[in-house]
Amino acid sequence: MAEIHLKDISHAYMPEPKGPEDYALKALDHVWQDGGAYALLGPSGCGKTTLLNIISGLLTPSEGAVKFGEQDVTTLDTAHRNIAQVFQFPVIYDTMTVRQNLAFPLRNRGVSAGDIDARVLEVADLLGIIDRLDEKASGLTADAKQIISLGRGLVRRDVNAILFDEPLTVIDPHLKWQLRSKLKALHQQFGFTMIYVTHDQTEALTFADKVVVMNDGEVLQIGTPEELFEKPIHTFVGYFIGSPGMNFLDAKVDGNQAMIAGQSIALTANYADTHNGKTEVGIRPEFLSLHSPDHKTNAGIRVTVQTVEDLGRHRVVKVDAAGTPVTVLVHEDEEVPSGDATLVFDPARTLVYRDSRLVEGVG
Ligand code: ADP
Ligand code: MG
Repeated sequence: MAEIHLKDISHAYMPEPKGPEDYALKALDHVWQDGGAYALLGPSGCGKTTLLNIISGLLTPSEGAVKFGEQDVTTLDTAHRNIAQVFQFPVIYDTMTVRQNLAFPLRNRGVSAGDIDARVLEVADLLGIIDRLDEKASGLTADAKQIISLGRGLVRRDVNAILFDEPLTVIDPHLKWQLRSKLKALHQQFGFTMIYVTHDQTEALTFADKVVVMNDGEVLQIGTPEELFEKPIHTFVGYFIGSPGMNFLDAKVDGNQAMIAGQSIALTANYADTHNGKTEVGIRPEFLSLHSPDHKTNAGIRVTVQTVEDLGRHRVVKVDAAGTPVTVLVHEDEEVPSGDATLVFDPARTLVYRDSRLVEGVG
């Protein structure tokens, strides 16, 4: 096994790309650590499959190189890269039994019969299909077939990486949860590099140590679930990760003050007032609080409470801040004022974005 280096790659499906908008995958340089558990997360059409197929060798990037350790594998196919890939829909042989399907990738590589039997049993046990090993694949339901496809991806011990492209799409929600936990356990047990594509943040955040957030062909941030929650470096990441997502409010920022809808709040760092583009303040619903309208603070603005949705331990409160909708998460022990209220920002959690990118203040 080796680390995987995507060296200044990008990809356009069209022959003569003219501008960035013609690229399904925009410029990326990244080293995937050997043994890492990664999720590729982003909305449909953002380039996740394109990126995954470049790693596996199904696709050659228009620009750049793919290296496994010191070896340049840019023009090698999937088999020669020693990669297992599980797709969104089942890829199995209908004429074979479940056992034969699971054994196939091993038989192909000349593994001994005894080792094949043992490994097939181990994987079948992991996936809960031991009692179905002698069934013909043709008679299985779509989700059972997909579990066999997963098994085929997991059966080899000698792979450089296992790539999963939204593999649980056709699986029912309850089983999905179980399988995801099994994949995570398997990663911990065997230490393969695993890259898991999904558009579902819960799947990404529970599976991965590092989440790669993509939008519109661009990798916006690679970070731990905690980093993505605490310091999204792009407004898209703030909005896409978290439930509900991060709030962004138009602001004018000068020194350690932000003016929002004509009212000023305190920041913990200083920012120069030299920006001509769009400036926003970003804060997660968890770090806002609501108080009565006469509450005195230098970190609050006047708002109007509009709706309250009770989720048990929390309530999701939507307020109006001079025309901008803001979402606040209020713990069940706290009061929610009705009508006019003061919305208080936790200064340590109040971030500043310029043209959608996080900027760090000084001091
Ligand atoms: P995702 O997996 O995130 O849904 P894809 O990587 O499949 O996204 O697609 C990224 C972009 O590239 C989309 O705009 C898609 O329409 C385009 N695309 C994907 N495959 C091809 C192809 N074979 N030929 C042309 N365009 C493609
Ligand atoms: Mg895809």
